Amino acid sequence: MARNVGRQCVRERDAVRTAISGLEVRRAASLGEALSILRDDQRTPIAGATDLYVALNFGTLEPRRFLDIWAVNELRDISMNGKTLVLGALATYTSLIRSPLVERHLPMLVEASRQVGGPQIQNRGTLGGNVANASPAGDSLPVLAAVDAVVVLRSADTERRIPLTKFYTGYRATVMRPNELIVAIEIPPVEGRQWFRKVGTRAAQAISKIVVAGVRAAVPRIAFGSVAPTVVRVPETERSLASGATIDEAARVLSREIVPIDDIRSTAEYRMRVATNLLRRFWIETG
Ligand SMILES: Cc1cc2nc3c(=O)[nH]c(=O)nc-3n(C[C@H](O)[C@H](O)[C@H](O)COP(=O)(O)OP(=O)(O)OC[C@H]3O[C@@H](n4cnc5c(N)ncnc54)[C@H](O)[C@@H]3O)c2cc1C
Repeated sequence: MARNVGRQCVRERDAVRTAISGLEVRRAASLGEALSILRDDQRTPIAGATDLYVALNFGTLEPRRFLDIWAVNELRDISMNGKTLVLGALATYTSLIRSPLVERHLPMLVEASRQVGGPQIQNRGTLGGNVANASPAGDSLPVLAAVDAVVVLRSADTERRIPLTKFYTGYRATVMRPNELIVAIEIPPVEGRQWFRKVGTRAAQAISKIVVAGVRAAVPRIAFGSVAPTVVRVPETERSLASGATIDEAARVLSREIVPIDDIRSTAEYRMRVATNLLRRFWIETG
């Protein structure tokens, strides 16, 4: 009996150790080091780990070899390059919320960041992680799509700049190569009033059912999350509003342009209704 109890203890202890010790992590101290490791050795980057730990917890995390980039301080900067706002990939939601530059040039990203998770997630979760994770419900993505943000990818040999709207190729699929890191997101100057709304089940710690960002300019720019396999711009709706259509006409265009799905968080019908309501709100509140 004592032996059985003993064996059971050993088994439980081993089960726990296997889940964690099965992961092999290297830590980079600089961008140069991180890129050389990725050139020589395929590894999955870890930034704040707020998405990766969820997958680990659910037992759905497939990669076992990781590159921890959290200490690569070069990727934390938020700065201006001429008129372009440059957001380092490791900028956390907290640093975006506190940044006077983001407040001045992209206030809707501050608004979106405030609505991500709770303070713990805002302290660890990064913009680069949100973009790379490629969830259609990622809260920063409509903001970045609406302002024609550019994703800066770097490998040991090259740098590529990809418009965010071309970065995603399908559900959770991107053009990023295994030897590349997102190093920054570039935001060209934004003219016009910015607007962001997220609809979830509650005010905090909720994944969005619908998320929308818009810029009210001569040609408005509007992007939705959670209505398609990737974040989407709605160019037909934008054109109809630019050409003087009424908001009811534009809402009808939108309902032909997006194809929300049913899933565990919501129904397609609810999402369509909320998306058209949010379009109206955007138009009224920025008018
Ligand atoms: C409780 C909770 C609440 C949350 N609430 C929200 C929410 O309200 N809204 C929302 O949008 N998200 C939410 N999230 C998801 C998550 O916090 C964000 O997506 C976050 O921005 C991910 O960043 P990270 O640094 O933690 O990424 P990680 O978990 O470290 O990585 C995520 C993915 O991105 C890759 N990656 C990370 N950085 C890079 C890089 N620089 N280059 C290339 N690949 C990279 C990783 O390999 C991994 O595949 C929540 C998560 C939790 C656990």
